[in-house]
Amino acid sequence: MRAIPDIETTRPLLEDSHLDFARAVGEFAARELAVRPAPADDEAARREARALLGLLGAGGWLQPIGREDWRACCLAREALAGASPLADAVFALQALGTLPILASGNAAMRQRWADAALAGRAMGAFAMTEKNAGSDVGALETTARRDGGDYVLDGAKRFISNAGIADFYTVFASTDRAAGSKGISCFVVPADAPGLRFVAPQVLSAPHPLGEIAFERCRVPAAHRLGEEGRGFALGLRTLDRLRSTVGAAACGMAARALGEALEHARTRRQFGKPLSEFQLVQDKLARMAGELAASRLLVMRAAWQADRGAERVTLEAAMAKSYATEAAQRIVDEAVQILGGEGVLASHPVDRLYRAVRALRIYEGATEIQRLVIAGQLLREPAR
Ligand SMILES: Cc1cc2nc3c(=O)[nH]c(=O)nc-3n(C[C@H](O)[C@H](O)[C@H](O)COP(=O)(O)OP(=O)(O)OC[C@H]3O[C@@H](n4cnc5c(N)ncnc54)[C@H](O)[C@@H]3O)c2cc1C
Repeated sequence: MRAIPDIETTRPLLEDSHLDFARAVGEFAARELAVRPAPADDEAARREARALLGLLGAGGWLQPIGREDWRACCLAREALAGASPLADAVFALQALGTLPILASGNAAMRQRWADAALAGRAMGAFAMTEKNAGSDVGALETTARRDGGDYVLDGAKRFISNAGIADFYTVFASTDRAAGSKGISCFVVPADAPGLRFVAPQVLSAPHPLGEIAFERCRVPAAHRLGEEGRGFALGLRTLDRLRSTVGAAACGMAARALGEALEHARTRRQFGKPLSEFQLVQDKLARMAGELAASRLLVMRAAWQADRGAERVTLEAAMAKSYATEAAQRIVDEAVQILGGEGVLASHPVDRLYRAVRALRIYEGATEIQRLVIAGQLLREPAR
């Protein structure tokens, strides 16, 4: 199987410390994650996610999130996603839930939630999406009203990863509806806060704990607000800016695993008297898959490298990395299924599991269409030559 994560293609963009980290996380993923059986249903996936959080925390694999070492985060997600898309999702949500706290939380918040999350002792969640606010986040309707020393939240969120199993939710709510996106603020809401209710799971075709939550006069102390009132939208965008390259990295991990499975099958499966790998139509597929994977890895690492160099916004690079890598991964995994033939659609086959897991990456954290609007918007802002 091809090395996951790959350190050859992106070597010029990596520090020496990344090479050791990549090898170590790749070995961990192969030894401890790839061997775990796929959860049979949503209940089992929820239990497995909690178990995986313990493993990731105990091994120290979540620590690059706290250091904001985005290249290491990309290497981690590539390794995890290749072995266990669910472990990758657990990593992603710890980052999404924690980053706003690290960026804007006070010392008590950081200690209580961020430190615990990065040690694997507390599970995070990121609650932004609502019924009428998907791609259009600025349209969110959940409100947070100041009441003495508290805020009182009312509203509902859906498509929330870790809903029902998280220990805390990083929640986006409006403190000033008239101000639109400039009236959005961000709060840490502990799972046991009075008035926070897990409504129901939303069951995906791939193992991934997801669901709806509701805030019914949910009361949190004012100290749980992250940053200034009205700065929540910017905080959310900064968080997504940083994490989009890592979604691309997860796509690379799934694509690399699929390519590895396809290569292995093409070498060993014989039809018409010879291995599939000797048919040029199969070689054409393999060549396209490998080329697109290498291009994805380069775009992903370019965005992460820019963020590691301290760039305040990496919007363009991250949008290119996420949209290209996730779209390419979908094609690569689909071609792997095709090369495997009937075996590729057996539910027990790793490539079929990847086929189900990879699809959501083109949608969450900003769908491909939105990323393309972002890219075109940046291009068109440049003066004409
Ligand atoms: C597995 C999974 C996990 C998720 N986890 C979380 C989570 O933890 N927290 C959270 O807050 N959210 C989460 N989400 C929600 C996710 O971020 C949203 O699904 C996503 O932002 C898209 O919103 P939507 O589903 O409402 O689709 P819509 O916004 O309704 O979009 C539907 C389609 O229309 C397209 N579209 C929309 N606007 C335009 C436009 N202007 N131009 C062209 N095309 C457009 C979109 O690209 C998309 O193809 C998750 C989603 C999934 C699938």
